[in-house]
Amino acid sequence: MARAVFPLFILHALTLLGTMVASAEEAFPLLDGDRRAVIVGSSQFLLEAVERCTGVRLRLVAERDYKKQALGYPIYIGDTHKAREVLTKEIASLDAEGYVFLVRPDLAIIYASGAVTDTGTPLLYAEANFARQFLAVDQYFPGELGLVYPRQERITIPCGLHVENPAFEHRHWSGYSGAAGPAWRLRASGGGGRYQFHHSLYKIIDPVKYGDHPDYFPMRLDRRSGRIEDTRYIPTDNFSAYWQPCTSNPAVLDITVKTILGAFAATPGLRSYSLGVNDSGGYCLCPECQKITPEGYTPQSDEAIGYRFYKFYNEVAERVARNRPDARLGFLVYSALSKWYPEKLHPCLMPYLTLSFADCWDAEYKRRIYAHIDRWSRIAPRFGIYEWYHGQGFFIPRIYLREMAEGLRHAHATGAEGFYAEAYANWGLDGPKLWVTEKLLWNPKQDVGKLIDTYCRGLFGEAAEEMRAYFAFLETAWATQKPSNDKRGGYRLLTSLHKKPQFTEVFSPAVCDAAWALLEKSEAAARTEMVRTRIAYFRDSFGATRLASTRLQAGETMRELLEADRAPALEGQEKKQRSVVDWLIVLEAWARFPSLDDYMTTIRDRAPWSFQEFCEDAIKSRGKSPERQTRTSFAAWDTDAPALRPIVDLVTDAVIATDPANAEQFNRQVLTHLSDWGEQAKRNGRFCDHAVGVLRPLCTRVTMDGKRLASAPKIDGTISKEEWGDPQLDGSLYRYPLENTESGDRTRVWVGVSGDKLFAAFHCYQDPDTVLNKVTERDVAPMHERGVIDHGRPFPYLGEVDSVGVSAWENGWVVAIVTSGGGLFDGKSTPKGYIPDWNGAVAAVRKTEDGWAAELSMQISNPDALVGAVKGFNFFRVRNGVRSAWVPGQPQRWALAPNRAGILFFPQQ
Ligand SMILES: [Zn+2]
Repeated sequence: MARAVFPLFILHALTLLGTMVASAEEAFPLLDGDRRAVIVGSSQFLLEAVERCTGVRLRLVAERDYKKQALGYPIYIGDTHKAREVLTKEIASLDAEGYVFLVRPDLAIIYASGAVTDTGTPLLYAEANFARQFLAVDQYFPGELGLVYPRQERITIPCGLHVENPAFEHRHWSGYSGAAGPAWRLRASGGGGRYQFHHSLYKIIDPVKYGDHPDYFPMRLDRRSGRIEDTRYIPTDNFSAYWQPCTSNPAVLDITVKTILGAFAATPGLRSYSLGVNDSGGYCLCPECQKITPEGYTPQSDEAIGYRFYKFYNEVAERVARNRPDARLGFLVYSALSKWYPEKLHPCLMPYLTLSFADCWDAEYKRRIYAHIDRWSRIAPRFGIYEWYHGQGFFIPRIYLREMAEGLRHAHATGAEGFYAEAYANWGLDGPKLWVTEKLLWNPKQDVGKLIDTYCRGLFGEAAEEMRAYFAFLETAWATQKPSNDKRGGYRLLTSLHKKPQFTEVFSPAVCDAAWALLEKSEAAARTEMVRTRIAYFRDSFGATRLASTRLQAGETMRELLEADRAPALEGQEKKQRSVVDWLIVLEAWARFPSLDDYMTTIRDRAPWSFQEFCEDAIKSRGKSPERQTRTSFAAWDTDAPALRPIVDLVTDAVIATDPANAEQFNRQVLTHLSDWGEQAKRNGRFCDHAVGVLRPLCTRVTMDGKRLASAPKIDGTISKEEWGDPQLDGSLYRYPLENTESGDRTRVWVGVSGDKLFAAFHCYQDPDTVLNKVTERDVAPMHERGVIDHGRPFPYLGEVDSVGVSAWENGWVVAIVTSGGGLFDGKSTPKGYIPDWNGAVAAVRKTEDGWAAELSMQISNPDALVGAVKGFNFFRVRNGVRSAWVPGQPQRWALAPNRAGILFFPQQ
C-alpha cells in the first residue's frame, strides 16, 4: 500500500488557513463542494468543530456499517480496524497518549487509544489537535473569548503521515483546571499525574494511625533556641507539614515498604508511588539519625539531612524492587534534599528537581540551574522538573518562553521525563506562556517564535503583528531587567505575599507606558469586534500592572517628599514649606488612577479568567447567591498615598482657621478652598483635578456635629428616635488599609454628650444570619511582655468577629470596642498597642431584623472642654475581620492607632 511518509511536524507549517488549500490529487476532502468526508468510528470533537466552522454536520457511521461506494470519503476516528490494519507499525510505537494521523486523497485516519490515561482521553486531544492543525480551531485561554472556530467554506487536508508522542510523558500543572480545553494535552489540576512525586510521607507514616509509636516521629530542631527538642514531635492537627518521620528507625522503613507494596497490589495499573518529603522541614535529629552523617559535615547540616534521606530512599527502593522491579518511586529534590547529591540512586527512584527557569536571563543563575540538572541526570536515569511558573501572586507579566524552551530542551535531552508546574495562570498578563509551554512539552524542539505567531494569528487576526510585538516587548522587559539585589528564583517579585516594590524594577511606569502604547497600536489595527474584544481583554489585564506600578512609584515619591518636609532644616538655611497647591500637584500623579480594588472590580466581568484570583473566586462562588459569592480583595497589593492624610490635615487646618460653626459650614468651606486651589494650579499650568476629586470626600468627612442630648440614653442596645434623634452618619465607612475606599456596608452612627459621658450608637446593616457572635467577654486579650496588647498578635475584638468601636482623646487616647456578641474591650491606646487598664465604657448590643445595633457610653473627665470644634474622635466597624472607619486608616496601619481622628462640633451649653 502506497503511503506518503512525511517527516514529523512538517504539518505544522500547514496550520494556517491560507495554506490549507491543496489540489485534489494530494489532499483529502473533509468538505469540498459535493465531496465530503464521512466519519467512521466515533468522534468526540471533530464533528462539532467542523459544524461550528462550516455549518455542515458530517455523517457519522459505525465502522461495520460503512460502505465506501455509498458514502464518499471516510475519515476513520478512534481505535478502528482500518487503523490497526494500515498503521500497525506506527501504533506499536505509540506512547499511551500518543496518536497518529494518516491522510491520503481517498481516506484519512485519526488513531489514538480510547483508554483514559491520567491526563484524559488521548483520542479527544488527537482529534482536537487535528482540528487545530487543519481547521485552525483552538482554545487559547479559558472562556468563550479564548475559543477560535474560523468560519470556512471548504476544508481539504494535505496528505501525510503524522505520528506524535509526548516528549515529557508526565505533563501536569496546578491551577484552575478548566484551563485545559480538550486540546490541552496535559493534566491541569492539583495532584495526580503519571508519576507521583509530591509531599507524601505524612500519608505513609500517618500520625493518626501510628500516634502511639513516638519513635516513628522526629526530634526536631527548635529554631529559636538552636537546640534539638528532647521529646519527639507527634503531629496532631495540620500534620502534613513541619515534620518528617524518623528515617533511621527500621520500623519506619518497614512500614514505608509495606505501604507501597500494598498500594501496588491493591491498584492494578499503578506504576508509581511518591516518597516526597513533607513540606516545611522538621527533619529528625535523634541520636540514631545523627549517627548517619557523611564525613566532614555536622549532623544538623542540610547536607547531612539530604544524605540521610537518600540512604533511606535507596533502602526503600531496593526492597520494593524485589517485588516490583518496574515501580517508579518519585520524590522531590527540595529543601535539604537539594543540598546533597547522592553517589548512587536506585533506578526505581525518580527525582523531581524543584527549580525555575524564570531567572535564566542571569547567566550565572542559568549556569547553576543547568549544572544542577546535568549532575542529577548522571545520578538518576529518569527524572522530572518541578517549575514555579506562577501566575498567581504576581502583578506583572512574567513571560520567559525562550528560556523555558531552552530549559525544557536541555532537561529532556539529559533524560527528564516528567514536568510539573505550579502554574496558577494569570491568563490576561502572561498571554501565550501556557499555551506555548503545553506545545513544548510534546516537542521542546519547536520554534517558540512560530508558536507565538500561531497564537497571535489565531486570536488577533489582522492585529496579530501588533500583538506579537506587545508580547515580545514583555518578554524582552523580563529578560533585560536589572534588579537591585542578587536574589534569584521562582518566587522573586511575588507581589501578593511580599508586596515588593521591586516589581517596578522590571515594569516601571515608563516601561508600562511603552507596553500600553503597543496595546493601543494593536487596537488601532483591529477591524473586527471579536479581535477588538480580545485585545481589550489583554489591555484591561495589563492595566492593573500599569496602575499598580504607577501608583507605587508616585507613592514612593510622596514618601520621600514627606520625609524631606519633616526633616529639620539644614543649619543656616531656611526651610521652604510646600503649600497645599504644591501637594495637590504631587498627589495628582497618584490620583489619576483609581484604587486597584475599584479597577479590578471593573475588569472582573469583562475579563473573567484574566487573573487566577478571578478563576478561584468563580469556582468558590459556583451556585451561590450574589451576596455570598467570593470576591478576592486586591487592596493589600495596592499602595496608599502616604501624603494623603497629611494633605487632609493641611486642608482641615486651613479651614478650621476660618472658624466654621458646624460641620455643614466646614464642608462648604472645604469645597470652596479645594476648587480655589485647583484653579490656582491651573493658572500655573498644572493639573490636579484627580487629586481634588480624591480629597473632596475625605476632607468633607472629617467632621460631625456632636449633640447635646436632653438626657442620657439608656444603654440597652435599642436606639430610639426619642433618645438619639437622627443619625449623624448614614452610609459606608472607609476600608482599611486604604485611605479612600469605602467598605460598601451601610452603617448609621449617632454621637452626643450628656453630663460627663460621651454616647455613641451604631446600627450595622447586614444579613442577620451572617453576624458573628463569638466574643462575649470583657477585656480578654493576649498581652505582650511589654504590658500592651501587641498589634502583631491575634486580638479577638478585631479578628474574625463583628464589632464596632470608638476612639477618643480622654487624658490620652482611649478606645472602646463592642462585639455583636456583647463583648467589650475598653482600654488605652498607645503607638505600641493597647493597655486594658482603662474601664470607662458601658455597652449593650441587640440583634435586629436587618443586622445588629450597639449603644455605648464613655466616661469623660473634662466635659466642659467639649465646645466648638474638638479634634480627637473616630468610629469604626469590623465585619468578619474586615475593618472600616469613619476617618480612614493610615497607610499600612490600623485606624485605631492614635492621631487618626476627626473633629466633632459641639454646640454651646
Ligand atoms: Zn531519628
